Parts: sequence; C-alpha cells; structure tokens
Amino acid sequence: MKVIATITELQQTLTPLRQGGAKIALVPTMGALHNGHLSLIAAAQKQADIVVCSIFVNPTQFTDPKDLEKYPRPLEHDIKMLTEAGCNFVFMPSVKEMYPSYPTPENWKIDLGPAEFVLEGEFRKGHYQGVTQIVYKLFDAVKPEVAFFGQKDFQQVLMIKNMVLELGLAVDIVTCPIIRETDGLAMSSRNIHLNKADREHSLALSKALFYIEENYTTQPIDRLVEQAKAMISSVEGVELDYLTIVNGDTLLPIKEKASNNTVALIAAKVGETRLIDNVIIN
Ligand code: AMP
Repeated sequence: MKVIATITELQQTLTPLRQGGAKIALVPTMGALHNGHLSLIAAAQKQADIVVCSIFVNPTQFTDPKDLEKYPRPLEHDIKMLTEAGCNFVFMPSVKEMYPSYPTPENWKIDLGPAEFVLEGEFRKGHYQGVTQIVYKLFDAVKPEVAFFGQKDFQQVLMIKNMVLELGLAVDIVTCPIIRETDGLAMSSRNIHLNKADREHSLALSKALFYIEENYTTQPIDRLVEQAKAMISSVEGVELDYLTIVNGDTLLPIKEKASNNTVALIAAKVGETRLIDNVIIN
C-alpha cells in the first residue's frame, strides 16, 4: 500500500489508473481505524478496482476544540491495518494541504435541507457544513466513482447524499451496516476514551435501541421512546442528548408508525465521551 500526502501526488498516481479503465473507490475516515472502517474497505474492494482510504482529522467539523485536540491519531497502527486489509492507497494530507488558508475559514455554505439542523446538527452547530466541505474536497482530489460511508453516522450519510444531489456530483454513495462489538456497542474511534465503568455504562445505548427494535410492532411509539429513555436514565454516568424515532429522510419524529424508512437514533455522553448509535427499524 502506498501512503500519499499531497493532492498533486494523488492525482499523478490515480489519473493514469483511471484512464486505464480502473474503477476507483474512496473510503473517507478520520483514522483510529477499527473493524467498522475495515468493513467499508472490504465493501469497496468488492465494487471497485482501486480503493483509496483517506485519513484526515477534519478541523472544520469539530465544534469543540478539546474534542479535536484529543481525537486519537495512531497512524502506524492505521497504516498496518490498511496494509493487511489490502487497501491500495492511503491519503493522509496535512491540514494546510486541505485548507491552505487555515485557520482562516474558507467560504463554504451549502443547502443541505432542513435535516441539517436537527439531532447532531442541533448539538454540533455547523458540523455538517464542515463534513460536506471536507468530503467535497476529498471527492475533488480523488475523483472516485463510488464512495463508502457507515450507517453508524446515519445523518452524515443523508447530508452527503443531499450534497451530491445539490451539487450534481457524479459519485455513487454506498451505505454500509454498523459493525458492533460482541456485546452490542457500536464500534467507534471514540470508544478508546471509555474507562472500564464507562465501557459498561455505554451498553445502555445499544440496549435501548434494541429494545425499540424488538418491541416496535407491539407498543405505541410514545411508550417505546418513554421506556427506552427510562432504560438510559437508570444507568449511572449516561447523559442523554436525544433518543428519537424518526423518518429516515426528514429526521423528524414520527407520530404514527410507518411501514418503511423508520430509524431510531440516540446520542449520549458516557462519562466524558459522547457516543451516537442507531437502528434502522424498517
Ligand atoms: P470516522 O473515522 O469515525 O469519521 O468514520 C469513517 C467512516 O467509517 C464513516 O463513514 C463512518 O460512518 C464509518 N464507521 C464508523 N464506525 C463504524 C461502525 N461501527 N460500523 C460501520 N461503519 C462505521
């Protein structure tokens, strides 16, 4: 696997491959890779000839400077994982490479629809402008035919699809299922910050979601949400930001049950670490 740090080198490397007919896939990440990330690499390998994984801790999507500072960056471990997975290229640019005028902000404001401002958008103001800004730049640098994202960040995939529509980009967006630890916790780079007690308490999130999933057909929506919230509040050290059952396009809470496009989403602080998770109900 080749490690590439500049857009110029990336394009010098990929252009001849593309011209030779290779289908190029991109898997954008912020590193601290785990099996969730590797599942995206594996899915990309099935659908494309060349897989580029990007590792870039994107400053413009962080609303809390402390969160940005303490974001894990185990680069050697990541390169080893990607090499073993048979990834072709890893693109690891500097902040200046992606944002030449950093820290002076660049102009980026795109209409992502009203779903930008709910859930994560409410708790992390401007987050999806930062996410779409870097994903646009990565698409422009790599020029992939297809890009792979995780359902783990459900709202993020929706926002990226909305950007692709809004800007008319020729990139297929593929969503891959959530990879979990055997006890149910959704894998996340942030799990590394959980101490032993937090790690136990963190199970409340997936348990509450699985409760909703299992009881969806037999209980009214209000009761499901109420019960699931009670499960969370009974666990010490878990502070809920939201737990909601929504339409998967609008991300607005549903009042009546629907037969498709229903998702339950949760965000909570476990100790000092903020975690998100979701289940697609139908
Ligand atoms: P991140 O490095 O956290 O920005 O994530 C990079 C990509 O991996 C995003 O598309 C995430 O949704 C995806 N991802 C993160 N965790 C998981 C997981 N547990 N299962 C599947 N995909 C994941």
